[in-house]
Amino acid sequence: MKRLILFLLPLWLLADAHIFVMHRVNDFRYPSTNISSKLLQKDIQYLLKNHYKIVKLSTLVKKIKNRQNIDKYVVFTIDDSFKSFYKNGLPLFKKYKIPFTLFVYAEATTKKYGDYMSWSEVKECQKYGELGVHSWAHPHLAMLSNKAIIKDTKKAINAFKKYLGYVPDMYAYPYGEYNTRVKNIINKFFPIICNQNEGSVTLNTPINDIDRIAITGDVNIANKLKITHLNIKNLKIIRDKNTIKEIRGYVNKPKVEIYITKMGWRWVKTKNGYFDFKPNFTLKKYRNRIIIRYNNKIDTKLILKEI
Ligand SMILES: [Zn+2]
Repeated sequence: MKRLILFLLPLWLLADAHIFVMHRVNDFRYPSTNISSKLLQKDIQYLLKNHYKIVKLSTLVKKIKNRQNIDKYVVFTIDDSFKSFYKNGLPLFKKYKIPFTLFVYAEATTKKYGDYMSWSEVKECQKYGELGVHSWAHPHLAMLSNKAIIKDTKKAINAFKKYLGYVPDMYAYPYGEYNTRVKNIINKFFPIICNQNEGSVTLNTPINDIDRIAITGDVNIANKLKITHLNIKNLKIIRDKNTIKEIRGYVNKPKVEIYITKMGWRWVKTKNGYFDFKPNFTLKKYRNRIIIRYNNKIDTKLILKEI
């Protein structure tokens, strides 16, 4: 019976969209957050030639809410409102007439920090794309008290009101860092939230926890477009403070490969689809990723060290 239902469902219900996140363009002082305009142009040409539909984040979110086909949909998001995007990225989006979603680091823009756009430049970007909020002071949110998170968020909201006259309904976490506590607070202000966990987007993606794929350096966008979502049921990550004790769940696969930052990859066999991995691994860094994958199907979770 289950097989019959699957057979009757249109295949696009299982399709994946991809959201990219970029920061600086042609600012080679910061290789880990930079993409060259040459490669960006090549990527845009590749997407257009292969009939990808490049849309704003809000358009994709509407499609997800309405359960419409998102196959071959791509979104470019830009974090931090760097001047280098304004100078070297925006002209390409204008040239190819494709939209984008820019997440503004409000304090840097308000106080005119050297590397960042002014509000009038942000306004100009808005003509060709749309805006989201990337906090006021770009803090490590998980290190702040509830009160301080709310304070930072309200300051960002007030800046948008003052300089643009409205507040977007989209937010991207600074450094992609969050935990359940942070998410619950930010979600009170913003229905749509982006993280920075590598993964694709499906019709089942929660719109308050949207994965994005970073494009920096000499990233191959064709390879990133091959990423699809690994559907894991009842995923449990059990930790004892900063030691990852156990990772378990159900996937319909013979094995999975599991990665933890600074531990590396391990193959884990499944039994009737269930995997149960006991790494007993103590986290080395503040920001850690747990990636579970099978071929190109992946699911990424962020784990922050408790300090
Ligand atoms: Zn940022």
